[in-house]
Amino acid sequence: MARALYQRRVSSFDEMTDLSHSIRQTLHDEFQWGLTPHHKVDISIDGTKKYLFPAEGKFVEAAYIPELNRKTLCLSTQVGCKMGCLFCMTARQGFQAHLTAGEIINQVRSLPEGHELPNIVYMGMGEPLDNLEETLKSLEILTSDWGMGFGTQRVTVSSIGIMPAMEEFFARSKVRFAWSLHNPFEDERQNLLPVQTVHGLSEILQFLKTIQLTDTRRMSIEYIAFAGVNDTPRHVKELVRILHGLKIRVNLIRFHPIPGTPLRGSDEKTLQFMKEALAAKGVPATVRKSRGQDIYAACGLLSTKALLKPTAVEDF
Ligand code: SF4
Repeated sequence: MARALYQRRVSSFDEMTDLSHSIRQTLHDEFQWGLTPHHKVDISIDGTKKYLFPAEGKFVEAAYIPELNRKTLCLSTQVGCKMGCLFCMTARQGFQAHLTAGEIINQVRSLPEGHELPNIVYMGMGEPLDNLEETLKSLEILTSDWGMGFGTQRVTVSSIGIMPAMEEFFARSKVRFAWSLHNPFEDERQNLLPVQTVHGLSEILQFLKTIQLTDTRRMSIEYIAFAGVNDTPRHVKELVRILHGLKIRVNLIRFHPIPGTPLRGSDEKTLQFMKEALAAKGVPATVRKSRGQDIYAACGLLSTKALLKPTAVEDF
């Protein structure tokens, strides 16, 4: 049955013709089909699409990002988020609900482009490790031979780092991991990610240094660069120091300003300086391209708060 669902991608119990009529009837009687088509799609001038999927009686967003040789789906694991990161629109929405594994997988399975997806990143709405069991279940469905058969190197989970959930994640899954670091100094990082007073930088770092990496299991750092906040030579020097001994790439990310925050994104020159200064010290770094900003699909901009009540964006 799993093969019919995830590999043949049938769209009703009736299409499971390898099952007897009576079993199909039982499935009809006992189970809901569970696939939910998208409610709405916004299309960016750069080709990025933002899909709105119903989940938990509310909505979540998934961003589909096509590039020349690579297509990526950025999916959500929660409606809203509890973590309260200062730079994030999802945080402004507060927390509404955890998604089930079915609702996470629905974003892949019901995506019109789902059949051609090479990469999946858990970087949409929510903190995946705050919804650990459903995230792990969805990863199993995505990467199992009996499921959708995605190679583990094509799936990345991003997290601010929550202990002990990270230990479970690394023990029970083989996909890639992206740590949202954003500042190498513990106290400064706590200003950006208030919840990190509970799950501290040094504890996470110590744990990550124990993980055995392979060609397929890699780790990266997500680093949104804010002008004058975390983009100075002092920050680069500390980044190099704390990442020593970790085989890890730093993804420098442009900040897309959100209403009501004094934070501003670093300019191009500073991003290039950071990239080169890190590389010169043996830390590979890239500046990530910005995608879907005009439809609020870019990094940190996903939010369905406007759909919860009619006051929309000016309310943020
Ligand atoms: S950045 Fe991620 S963890 Fe932080 S509030 Fe936004 S969705 Fe949650």
